[in-house]
Amino acid sequence: MTPDIISLGELLVEIMRTDLNTPHGVTGANYRGPFPSGAPAIFIDSASRMGKPFDFTTGFIGVIGNDEFGASIIKKLEKDGVDVSQIRSSDTETTGIAFNQYNSDGSRKFIFAAGAAGATTPDDVKEDYFKDIKNLHITGSALSISKNSREACYKAIKIAKEKNPSVLISFDPNLRPELLDLEVILKICKPVLEMTEILFPSGEEAEMLAGINDPIEACQKLLEKGPKIIVLKRGKRGCTIFTKDNLKGANIEGFKVNEVDPTGAGDSFGGAFIVGYLAGWNLKKTAKFANIIGAKKVEHFGPMSDTTYEEVIELMKKD
Ligand code: ATP
Ligand code: MG
Repeated sequence: MTPDIISLGELLVEIMRTDLNTPHGVTGANYRGPFPSGAPAIFIDSASRMGKPFDFTTGFIGVIGNDEFGASIIKKLEKDGVDVSQIRSSDTETTGIAFNQYNSDGSRKFIFAAGAAGATTPDDVKEDYFKDIKNLHITGSALSISKNSREACYKAIKIAKEKNPSVLISFDPNLRPELLDLEVILKICKPVLEMTEILFPSGEEAEMLAGINDPIEACQKLLEKGPKIIVLKRGKRGCTIFTKDNLKGANIEGFKVNEVDPTGAGDSFGGAFIVGYLAGWNLKKTAKFANIIGAKKVEHFGPMSDTTYEEVIELMKKD
């Protein structure tokens, strides 16, 4: 099987504090997990669940450890229909682990043991796997976790373009300036940005990439750097879509839910958006669909959800 939609990079389990405002240093307090995670993996899981009615096939390239954490990730991806044939098991490193802790002001803190999560190399990216590619999704996290993972992403873009010149390259620049020098971020993102058709930034990420202290002006500026469509993710407020024909941006209201855990909302949103777009829907319908998927994700605990296409379509009718 050669997939229509491919992503690559870090596979992780997330282990989360059950209570807010409980620093990792507090001994004896509770954690809950493991939850299958990793930004590109959350994206592909969402694309796979939402793409089923359109017969879109999905696949992932990455590395796990030879352990039960890795097996739990494979189990979730397989259940949701993602092809896992290109996920390699490392004999020397354990599956990546992220301990995650939230505070009531919305801030969060990670302790991260990368293990096999950064072990993806260009050799893992096989030309034949890209034969039917329609969308390749790149994340800033996979560009920054290691040099070899970054080179794997660059190789995937090159092959995808060779196999299908009209391939849709999407990019979620989920990079934090507090973790990496801004200069480095801009340098590693530049070659991806130039090839990107759809960019999925948060406000902070757009500002950082454009060097402008205003999310809207930043998105307008980024349209000059490669992307044709910029989808600004705005949490409970939904999203705003910028194109060269609509520099002002079209606001698509968020779907109202009770937020339990925001982890993975952006990546779940991205996977759904790509499915709607590839299905030929207009941007407004696509954004509404993706907003519901993002909202359904924050309604429950853990980075990947089980929401089905049918559930989303029902909610779209009611909205
Ligand atoms: P993360 O990096 O934590 O995954 P993000 O910053 O990339 O998040 P958000 O804007 O937080 O992305 O969320 C993505 C989308 O999910 C939003 O555009 C919106 O559609 C939906 N969403 C997120 N939070 C909420 C919420 N509290 N209520 C309703 N919808 C939400
Ligand atoms: Mg994000």
